[in-house]
Amino acid sequence: MLFANPNISIYIMHWVNNLLLSVSLFGITNLDIERPETYNQLNPPIIYEIAHQIDFPHHIYLELEATAQNKITEVVFYYTFNGQQTIIYGKPSFEPSKSVQTRHKINTSKANYIPPGLIITWHCLITDSQGNTTETKKQTFAYLNPELNWRKLESENFNLYWHDNDKNMISRVASQTNILLNKSKKIFDFTVPPQINVAVINNDRKSMPPISHKAASTHLYAGFAFPEYQTAVINTAKTELLTHELIHIYLDQKVGIYKPFVPAWLNEGLANYFATSQSTLKPIDASEDWFKLQNMHNVPGRPQDVHKFYYQSEKVVAYLIESYGYKKMNVLLEELSEGRKIDDAMLKSYGFSVSQANSLWKTNTIYVHQNPIGIKYVTIAAIFASVFIFGTLIFYKNKSK
Ligand SMILES: [Zn+2]
Repeated sequence: MLFANPNISIYIMHWVNNLLLSVSLFGITNLDIERPETYNQLNPPIIYEIAHQIDFPHHIYLELEATAQNKITEVVFYYTFNGQQTIIYGKPSFEPSKSVQTRHKINTSKANYIPPGLIITWHCLITDSQGNTTETKKQTFAYLNPELNWRKLESENFNLYWHDNDKNMISRVASQTNILLNKSKKIFDFTVPPQINVAVINNDRKSMPPISHKAASTHLYAGFAFPEYQTAVINTAKTELLTHELIHIYLDQKVGIYKPFVPAWLNEGLANYFATSQSTLKPIDASEDWFKLQNMHNVPGRPQDVHKFYYQSEKVVAYLIESYGYKKMNVLLEELSEGRKIDDAMLKSYGFSVSQANSLWKTNTIYVHQNPIGIKYVTIAAIFASVFIFGTLIFYKNKSK
């Protein structure tokens, strides 16, 4: 007699309502395989069909088939990558004819790597022998491995492409990440928020960038942010990891062309600070051998230093935000976005320099995060490092015999 109680049926109604609400909020959709589209342009009469093929991870083909009354003499493919102003074009060569079939190849591997999840917008311009031109309808698609069953989740601050994962888990990670990102907006206060796309690649090596790729801000190979494309790639759907990478994109959006002036301690520190939301009381060990803040412009090369670098960066940022509030950090980023160097920007916003901050941050006893991010990956890196050192020792020992 479960439904006899009127209160229970109200509960169920609420539950159904909430369910419908959450479905429409998250908008989880299956990505349909796109069929080629056919259009009929009347003046001058021209029929065309456009499609794209992804040969993952090597190439993308943009394809056109067109039939006209006059001979088609030229076809130009125009395309843009999400987040970029530049329009790229390709002009394939073909024999002029009333019916043509042509395509443009975009290389997507090695030096031409583009991240999965990147949105590409394209169209063609067709010219006939009489000089008539026809512009095809704009097409948009996400660059994803077509062999996988991708799904898309639209959320407040980003779209997430994922496959072979639990839908509820993905929704949970997205909503937790949105909460953390919204918190960070107190310091980023965008006029134009970035249009971010993320692909969860389930540790697929072929989806990762070549390690030396300069545009990639790597977080110990667990996640990659591509601010220039407003796209991120993460190995696994984890709130901390996703938030960390998206904060990199936020910072890039905030400081624009002056990103090289942002020291790594600030960039990684902000990413880790917002990615880990809890804090507890524990004093900082002032006697520990910390890096000098003035020397922390870049992430160190030695894997054994990387963990300490991230940990310290987060603590410095935590000190700045929790002792002086969001406003001062916001002013610091504003100063950097106007092209000021870090020392000047610190003096203008906080009233002390980077070297003064170096002695101040250790006095912070309030903040210690609870889930150090990426500890597993740091450990893996450290194991590799020790294997390498061990290997070297053996080599030298044998040689000296
Ligand atoms: Zn990072």
